[in-house]
Amino acid sequence: MAEQSLMDKIVSLAKRRGFVFPGSEIYGGLANSWDYGPLGVELKNNMKQRWWKRFVHEWDDMAGLDAALIMNPKVWEASGHTAHFTDPLVECKKCHARFRADHIDVREPCANCKAKDSFTEAYQFNLMLKTFLGPAEEKANVAYFRPETAQAMFVDFKNVLDTTRRKLPFGIAQIGKAFRNEITPGNFIFRTREFEQMEIEYFIKEADWKESFELWRKEMWGWMTDELGLKKEHVHELEVQDGDRAHYSKRTIDFEYDYPFGRKELYGLAYRGDFDLKNHFKEPPYRDAETNELSYPHVIEPTWGVDRSVLAVLCDAYAEEEGRVVLKLKPRLAPYKAAVFPLLANKPELVQKARIVCAELKKHFMVAWDERGNIGKRYYSQDEIGTPYCITIDFDTLENDTVTVRDRDTLKQERVAVVDLVSYIAGKLGV
Ligand SMILES: [Zn+2]
Repeated sequence: MAEQSLMDKIVSLAKRRGFVFPGSEIYGGLANSWDYGPLGVELKNNMKQRWWKRFVHEWDDMAGLDAALIMNPKVWEASGHTAHFTDPLVECKKCHARFRADHIDVREPCANCKAKDSFTEAYQFNLMLKTFLGPAEEKANVAYFRPETAQAMFVDFKNVLDTTRRKLPFGIAQIGKAFRNEITPGNFIFRTREFEQMEIEYFIKEADWKESFELWRKEMWGWMTDELGLKKEHVHELEVQDGDRAHYSKRTIDFEYDYPFGRKELYGLAYRGDFDLKNHFKEPPYRDAETNELSYPHVIEPTWGVDRSVLAVLCDAYAEEEGRVVLKLKPRLAPYKAAVFPLLANKPELVQKARIVCAELKKHFMVAWDERGNIGKRYYSQDEIGTPYCITIDFDTLENDTVTVRDRDTLKQERVAVVDLVSYIAGKLGV
């Protein structure tokens, strides 16, 4: 499969089957905004729910948070975003196209209009998305949509500590949207101005940072391979070198994925020292229960991009084999866990029985219904969206209350009693 054509196929499938639509499409779209459709929202929600279960509910010392998207602008002054959260920008004097100066060779002609020597000097462009609170558009009312979820976990540190009585080490976890006024968004849902993060700030004693960093490195691999099912050979660790790391970080690893358009960042893991809490708290906010000593805890920060996860999973799961397109999604992530078909749509007794089976399954799982065309076409349609199990109600069902369950990956068919269907599927999903 040619590289570019794989990306085209995924974008086309995503639109055709309702995973991801171009945003505001009937108005000609809006630069790189995308809407998650009926199946995309299920895939994304399954991912977020698995993450929350794995890292908040199943973890001993994690607290959740859901903070406001717009915070007091003083937060961004303290964190350094107002002064330093910038990208170098150049503009073509002829066509006014704008580019990241660090993404292009400014000695080359403009990629948009082919003009030579047409670029302005690079200047620093702040990536925070600005808005105004209240009716007056004046400087005093300027606010920003958060450019990352992280700062809320630092700003709320003491509130979480006081209400949960945690002791180090402990973490605060959050899933939510963040906004960056990217100069050049692109590559489908890879780089967008509005995106979603799953993030943890894990607070530790300074002496424990190396151990904690290794713990989270393993956890992130576990997430990528066990939960998302990404092929190990498609993920690479990039040790970020001294000059490229934030000045406060003693160690940062980028997890990169082999997207069809190249090897690019998927997740990040950083040791941020005590930089963030010191920015926000004049007094050390943590008191050790045994020694009564006040301190600034240090922090390990694993960050997961939700949209990049969706894209990596789609790329990894997409396969063409034996005349079919199949999304080999982990069954737990698949939008539909099962599809129910009456063998023939014009036999009321089959349809009626299939409706009963479908209604029962729907109490437990997200289930699709299909009675169009023949069984082969229905299988094809479900394979393309990654539905792991297809259940057919036939004339034998009316005799002995069993159904055919067909497996998406092995194509094997099994006869299963209707009364056992829920536990059969639950067992396969591991839930
Ligand atoms: Zn130009």
